[in-house]
Order: sequence, then C-alpha cells, then structure tokens
Amino acid sequence: MSDKRGFETEAIHAGQVPDPTTLSRGVAVHRTSSFVFKSAEHAANLFSLKEFGNIYSRLGNPTNAVLEDRITALEGGAASVAAASGTAAIFNTIVTIARVGDEIVSASNLYGGTYTLFDAIFPDLGITTKFVDARDPSSFEKAITPKTRLLYIETIGNPALDVADIPAIAKIAQKHHLPLVVDNTFATPYLLKPIELGANIVVNSLTKWLGGHGSAIGGVVTDGGNFDWSDDKFELFNKPDKNYHGLRWAKDLGPELGKIAFALRNRTVPLRNIGACLSPDNSWIFLQGIESLHVRMPRHSENALAVAEHLSKHPKASWVRYPGLKGDPSYDVAKRLLTKGSGGMVVFGVKGGRPAGEKLIESLKLFSHLANVGDTKSLALHPASTSHSQLTEEQQRESGLTPDLVRLSIGLESIEDIIGDLDQALAKI
Ligand SMILES: *Cc1c(COP(=O)(O)O)cnc(C)c1O
Repeated sequence: MSDKRGFETEAIHAGQVPDPTTLSRGVAVHRTSSFVFKSAEHAANLFSLKEFGNIYSRLGNPTNAVLEDRITALEGGAASVAAASGTAAIFNTIVTIARVGDEIVSASNLYGGTYTLFDAIFPDLGITTKFVDARDPSSFEKAITPKTRLLYIETIGNPALDVADIPAIAKIAQKHHLPLVVDNTFATPYLLKPIELGANIVVNSLTKWLGGHGSAIGGVVTDGGNFDWSDDKFELFNKPDKNYHGLRWAKDLGPELGKIAFALRNRTVPLRNIGACLSPDNSWIFLQGIESLHVRMPRHSENALAVAEHLSKHPKASWVRYPGLKGDPSYDVAKRLLTKGSGGMVVFGVKGGRPAGEKLIESLKLFSHLANVGDTKSLALHPASTSHSQLTEEQQRESGLTPDLVRLSIGLESIEDIIGDLDQALAKI
C-alpha cells in the first residue's frame, strides 16, 4: 500500500483512529467547554504555542479537530480551522489578512451573503473591495493596487455558475505576491482541489454538500501552507500582534509553524476573540456527511446534468446554465478543471420572467422552496426576489442575476421524479 491514501479512504478515516482509552470506533462528541491542564508549565506552554493542546472549546475541541484534519486531508492543505458558519469562516479569513486601509480584489459573482460582507460590512471596517469579472482573469490584474492584500473567487460562482479559471488567476496572484482565496463550497474537494491549482487558502461552507443533508450550519477554512507572509505589506503578519503576545506571525514562528501562520493567526485572533466557533455536535454531523461525499457528488452531478439537458430542450426554458452542459460558456473551463463532474447546481431562465419564475416555484411538489443548496433533497429558489433582493438591479445584473433566473439544487431522488416534478410545474405556467 502506498503512503498516500485515496480520497475515499481519507473521507472516512482522516484525522481519526479508534480512541485508545475507550476503543470507540466512531468519532466521540466532546461536549465540554474546557480541558484541564496537567501542570502550570503545561498551561503556560499551551498559551504560548510552545505545545499544541486543548484549552477551551472556543479555540479548539477534539471533535472539531477530527473535522479540521479531515478537511485538510481532502483539500490537500496544511491546516484547517472550523467556524460556526461558512460566513464566519470567510469573515475570519479576511480579518486575518487585511486591516483598515487594505483592499480586496474579488470576483463579483459571489454568494449573496459574501457580496454583502464585501460590499457593505467590510467598508465600515476600512477594508474595501474592487469587484471584477470572474470570467476574465486579466480583470483581476487590472484591479490590483499597492493596497491589495488578497484575491477572492468562488470555484463555481453564484448565481450563474461560471467556473473560475483558477490556474490563470493563481498565476496573477503569484506574480503580485498576493494570496488567492477560493470559496470551494459548490465544488467540494471531491470535484476540485483549489490548492493543487495554485490557490493558497480555501473556504468551504460545511452547510452545503460537505455536510450534504441540510442538517446543520458550519464552515471551515484551509491553509495551503504555500504562502510566504514575510512581505512587509502584510502588516498583520509582520508587526508585533497586540492581539497575541506581540507575536510577529511571519517572523517568530520558525519554518515549521511559519508555514501555517495564516491558520494559527485565524484560530488565535478572530476565532478566539470574535468567537464564532463551531459546536462539536455539528462537527459530528458534518463528519457523518463527509464519509459519503465521494458517493454523493457523482450522483448530484449526474442528476444535475440530466436536468440541464432536459431543460435545454424544454420550450418553457429560455436558457440553461450548467458548467457540464455542452455549449455552456463555462464548458471548456469545466472540462479542464471539473473532470469528476460539474456539481449539483442548475440555473435556468423561465419564459415569462419574474411572475413565471414565482409561479413555477409555487407549483413544485418534490422540490422544496427554500434558501439552501447542497442537500440530498432537491431545492428551488428565485434569487432575484429572495437571496439577492438586497442588491440593486444593476448589482444583480453585474453578478449575472436576471429576474427570470430560477436556481435549482439537484438532490439524490430518482431522476425521473426530479424531471417529472419540473415538467408538471412548467406545464402550469
Ligand atoms: C452557503 C454559502 C456560504 C455561506 O455559508 P453559511 O454556512 O451559510 O454561512 C458561502 N459561500 C457559498 C458559496 C455558499 O453557498
């Protein structure tokens, strides 16, 4: 057997062995707020990062550690930090790297919540964002200024499902010595591993396909361990950090820990002091889901492709977007990067615009009308009137959202039933 285990094996085993004390095979849920110190010296070593160990569950918990190590293995990174939600993981990622006066260059086709964070919340904290066209890698380069601290993209953008050309954008990030942060929620590491393609930091909402059953909220960020923070423009890594013992993260950690300076600062500054930690109960739920990720994702992709092909011939659909659909604007990039499937999302335009979209969603019976994606159950939403209603019409159009757009998250039910439900609802328009 080679040292490197397969994805399927890691999805089930990474980060855990049977507990040596209890011999429990399953992952234990450690429902505890705190952990006893063995001695005064042990306590001092833990606080000064001389030794790793459990202190208090806001900073880390053994059940969360299994989840973090599993995600690290699946994403091919160096360390991960779990958070209370995907949104918290994104917030903590940004404030780990950027401070007042700094800029982000981000794709504009973002998850609605992330767009609001970048467009409305971070500016109040002095961090501003230049939004660019994810389909055009050169637009990232044009927006970079001396104040830029990171590039941000989603693997498969919301809501038009454009696939980012990660290798091309990573090349620009490297040239300008900036970290590339990728939200990999829609692909999951089963379909694509951004770090292998040159990304430095990967965020995932566990709420979606990783957990996979619509049963809990959580997020995680993975440090690729492949970015050198010692450039003085990353002030938070090079000036003594008053949030943590005056430590200079890029200078004082030594070569081994220095590689995961981002993950360490993320855990010890925003996770510890802002406090959006993940409950170990939810970690356990996500670990259950992750064990079957490699079985679910191919079926999500297969069902979604069948729906996309069906809708592309349907007289009541004016257009369909699915990265794996021949002729899709993202088809070529998807063919190159998403070799194991193009994921579970399909969006399409219903003839008759917004009223037809609303009618369709109200007529669906098997599909659930709700604001989530990545469940075993098929889900439908009309983003213009719900998840993206905060944006102006111009911002909506900029992010690829038209009033007729219906968003489908294709589940794992019988494909005949999924298509049958769409057909009966489309017939009512
Ligand atoms: C859902 C989602 C998020 C936010 O995650 P939460 O767990 O809901 O906070 C971020 N990015 C993408 C792409 C998402 O789908």
